[in-house]
Amino acid sequence: MKKPGSTSQEDDKPRGPEKATDEKPGVSNFIRDIIDEDLGNNKNGGRIHTRFPPEPNGYLHIGHAKSMFVNFGIAEDYNGLYNLRFDDTNPVKEDTEYVDSIMEDIRWLGFNWEDRLFYASDYFDQLYEWALKLIKDGKAYVDDLSADQIREYRGTLTEPGRESPYRNRPVEENLDLFQRMKAGEFPDGSRVLRAKIDMAAGNLNMRDPVMYRVLHATHHRTSDKWCIYPMYDWAHGQSDSIEGITHSLCSLEFEDHRPLYDWYLEQLGVFHPQQIEFARLNINYTVMSKRKLRVLVEEGHVDAWDDPRMPTLSGMRRRGYLPQSIRSFLDKVGVAKRESVVDIALLEHCVREDLNIAAPRVMAVLKPLRVVIENYPEGQVEELTAINNPEDESMGVRRIPFSREIYIEHDDFREDPPKKFFRLSPGREVRLKHAYFIKCERVIKDDKTGEVLELRCTYDPQTKSGEAHDGRKVKGTLHWVSCDHAVPAEVRIYNNLFTVESPDDCEDFRQCINPQSLEILSGCQVEPNLKNVKAGERFQFLRHGYFCVDSKDFSSERPVFNRTVSLRDTWAKIEKAEKKGGK
Ligand code: ATP
Ligand code: MG
Repeated sequence: MKKPGSTSQEDDKPRGPEKATDEKPGVSNFIRDIIDEDLGNNKNGGRIHTRFPPEPNGYLHIGHAKSMFVNFGIAEDYNGLYNLRFDDTNPVKEDTEYVDSIMEDIRWLGFNWEDRLFYASDYFDQLYEWALKLIKDGKAYVDDLSADQIREYRGTLTEPGRESPYRNRPVEENLDLFQRMKAGEFPDGSRVLRAKIDMAAGNLNMRDPVMYRVLHATHHRTSDKWCIYPMYDWAHGQSDSIEGITHSLCSLEFEDHRPLYDWYLEQLGVFHPQQIEFARLNINYTVMSKRKLRVLVEEGHVDAWDDPRMPTLSGMRRRGYLPQSIRSFLDKVGVAKRESVVDIALLEHCVREDLNIAAPRVMAVLKPLRVVIENYPEGQVEELTAINNPEDESMGVRRIPFSREIYIEHDDFREDPPKKFFRLSPGREVRLKHAYFIKCERVIKDDKTGEVLELRCTYDPQTKSGEAHDGRKVKGTLHWVSCDHAVPAEVRIYNNLFTVESPDDCEDFRQCINPQSLEILSGCQVEPNLKNVKAGERFQFLRHGYFCVDSKDFSSERPVFNRTVSLRDTWAKIEKAEKKGGK
């Protein structure tokens, strides 16, 4: 990873340390305090205009969602405007696939940039003109040092840098060379344009940063028009200025770059947006850098950018997260200056809270065990009534067929039950959800392996209401599906992608990938109401968790369900324990 402030010619984009926070946006935070004060002073005539500036070199992750909630959220709350701007200054890594995915993800989150879609590449002409101005003002020069030499001359935090032997070229020569750089006369990496600031500055970003590099590369928008490209730091502040951005809200790694942005704007004498930095969002058990996410995709550790294990917005969508859950999560996390790491359990808690209301309950058997109910008439089918969501009666009821042969969960039977196992075992009676009591009479096993193949049970016809007439109690309630009616399905269970809380601290983050992050259950049987599900539909599988129909590997014959989140809410547990401890 490149250090912030690098003057290398490849990519000057600040890369942040990755850590987030505790104040509530919407309620109040330090950014809103600054904006309130600006409004009080009628700064910018009371105008609030923000932007979100993704680089189209990967898919958006939930950290980007935080930046959008800060930038767009504040603009919305203050009746301001917000822009979407692609910071497309690095043609080598950028692609329209990323542009498209970014727009789709932003729309999914519910934001609308209306007609305010911009590209830094729209400003290449203006930026070039401004570079000419700085050269004419004696504030920029063409340097022939190589990238390595520039790095070497740059000095360190404790040592001042050295001036390049080309630093004092006459203006005319600089103008001539820069125009020839643009005209394509020089090979890649042979020359750069640098700002002439101060090689002894304490802030390394101020030690004559590179503004332009020669790069003969085709750009996804400007095609082959340019063979010099502006560095991110030269493009960013001026792009904000051109768009009349009043508050440029970005993550902390840009703090050390602010003096440079300020310097450029002052030299050019143009509109000066105010940059305010906040802490990045970090979540445990995952990585949040596009560079690392790209490695996961390119090396095949995951199936694509939208693999449901990825912290990308497209991954979360495919996994079944609702956009409002991401919003409520970010609300809970808040905005602050202090770096921290948020527990993934909080995000899952928010997802569960919304799905609990939104998702109808259904029965799905993930590891089926056949049960024959010997005293149930052969060929008989009963339609039983089941409520769709006890949290919301308006979601109504559905009918579920019951017959002589059903599947129950293999794990719901134990031949030799341990203490506190209240499910089925020989001689024991349990309740079938929405149906009857059944009692296990016999176990049929494979002669050779001893494996349990089937159970022979009896049912009590008097227990249809879910209770016994004589008042006898059963402790377990199992879900089930009728063998003849069930729909075969595949279920994918996702776990954390990494085995450690902080994969960024691993020597090689790839070595901390969880080999059990995906478990595929191919022989599942789900209730017949799931026969015609649509991609993206969400359900609660009783006792298993929340599931979403996969949108990529879609088949109506044999649907694939992604587990969105299990039912076990570890966050609620943590909160409960904290409350207890606090008393
Ligand atoms: P990464 O560091 O993951 O490679 P990036 O910062 O290079 O991402 P950009 O496309 O430049 O990606 O991001 C656009 C904006 O999103 C940046 O201005 C940055 O401030 C913000 N951002 C990126 N990651 C986070 C995060 N984890 N939390 C909050 N904001 C973020
Ligand atoms: Mg960044």
